[in-house]
Amino acid sequence: MKNSNETLFLTQAEADQQEFLRVIENTARALVQSFHEDAAYAGPEPNVLRSQIQQIEFLPDKGMGFDQCLADAAEKILPNFLHTSSTRYMAHLHSAALVEAIAAELVLTTFNQSMDSWDQSPVATELENEACRQLCKLYGYGPESDGIFTSGGSLSNQYGIHLARDWYCREHLGQDVKAHGLPADFRRLRIYTSEISHFSVEKTAHLLGLGYDAVVKVPVNDAMQMDADALERLIKEDLRKGNLPFCVVATVGTTDFGSIDPIAKIAVLCKEHGLWLHCDAAYGSGLILSKKYAARIADLPMADSITVDFHKMFLMPISGSVFLVKRGTEFETFELHADYLNREEDEEDGYLNLVGKSLQTTRRFDALKVWFAFRTRGKDGWDKLISTCVENAAWLYERLMADPKFTVAVKPEISSVVFRLNASDDVNKRVRRALLLDKGIVIGQTVVNGQTYLKFTLLNPLLTHEHLEQILQIIVELG
Ligand SMILES: *Cc1c(COP(=O)(O)O)cnc(C)c1O
Repeated sequence: MKNSNETLFLTQAEADQQEFLRVIENTARALVQSFHEDAAYAGPEPNVLRSQIQQIEFLPDKGMGFDQCLADAAEKILPNFLHTSSTRYMAHLHSAALVEAIAAELVLTTFNQSMDSWDQSPVATELENEACRQLCKLYGYGPESDGIFTSGGSLSNQYGIHLARDWYCREHLGQDVKAHGLPADFRRLRIYTSEISHFSVEKTAHLLGLGYDAVVKVPVNDAMQMDADALERLIKEDLRKGNLPFCVVATVGTTDFGSIDPIAKIAVLCKEHGLWLHCDAAYGSGLILSKKYAARIADLPMADSITVDFHKMFLMPISGSVFLVKRGTEFETFELHADYLNREEDEEDGYLNLVGKSLQTTRRFDALKVWFAFRTRGKDGWDKLISTCVENAAWLYERLMADPKFTVAVKPEISSVVFRLNASDDVNKRVRRALLLDKGIVIGQTVVNGQTYLKFTLLNPLLTHEHLEQILQIIVELG
């Protein structure tokens, strides 16, 4: 039998198949063995970890073979991973990965399809295409809609604002940005988003040649939702000044608070003044599968485009996001034919080349993970997963509100709870650091009205009220 240095790929050869099984099984076993404690993080602090890593030879002269490589990883790397599945991890919008989706990862990386052209990903292209069709339907879009999987919410937001700009310039200014670049008075173009929206809006404004100056920050109300009256005032003021409002980015689940902007009101304003509405539902999109809480995002279909992240509430391995657009023809902005890749003559004969809708060329088959997880658990299973997280947040909110030792920033609309110990900023900061390094508990921290707050982001359906209560007790003791 060939050893691992001889086997390169999984092929039809018996020796390769045996070696593939051995490598994958041993890896799976090492993974399983590394999960033996409850801590979210059991490794050392940054400087120690850095020097440990620097001592491991990166590119040896002579290969050590897979077994030694795996043994070193098991000894030096695996113990220092953050355990996203731990009930002591709740720092960010960053979830554990469902086992069936990990299996799907193995499938999609083994075949290593690339989603740019049909001849690089035949069944994968058809499956992603169908997944996009079904996801459009799930989020309430009609038959003209379309979608594309992307690497994450940041890129999906970029797609939304990019399509909005090109649409506005074409429809309102008669400018073909794709062919000729920005219109002469591009400095007047304006994007509106709340003051607590995701920073990918500003990054996109920069990338699109508009700059941060083009982003108008709309104040939020006490519930951390965009103030729609303020939005109307700001749009009207800009119109009076001769500026060119072209897009509102509303957030459906803000990163810190999970607050949901008033979509219906904002949609009416966008219609009235000729703006594109992009909904950043990177976080809140998960509510769609909760029977009880889906109503909170019922207005999403009013948006011209939607960002959905699968690596947050949907518990997918990174990366997983889809960008949905109400009028699929808007994707023509990204269409560009290359002789070597996506020939028009092939497309006329039914060969679908998804690169025509994408800014990425080589692209992962992330849709397969969603397909595995949706079919494995079904609507019933998903309802339980999502609803549990929302209910945990509601319980924690009530628990904290009833306790004079804590202050809560805002009532949760999804599954994030932002609160502080009634002590100095410094005490709150030190509590978080001590939880990380001494207790293996990783929680979030943010600033609200100039004060330091702690944050629980409850994406893990394994969390119970008892878990949360225990961590609160530890926080009180440390404080
Ligand atoms: C996480 C998040 C993003 C960014 O998504 P990535 O997948 O991390 O690129 C955008 N918007 C909101 C509201 C988010 O919470």
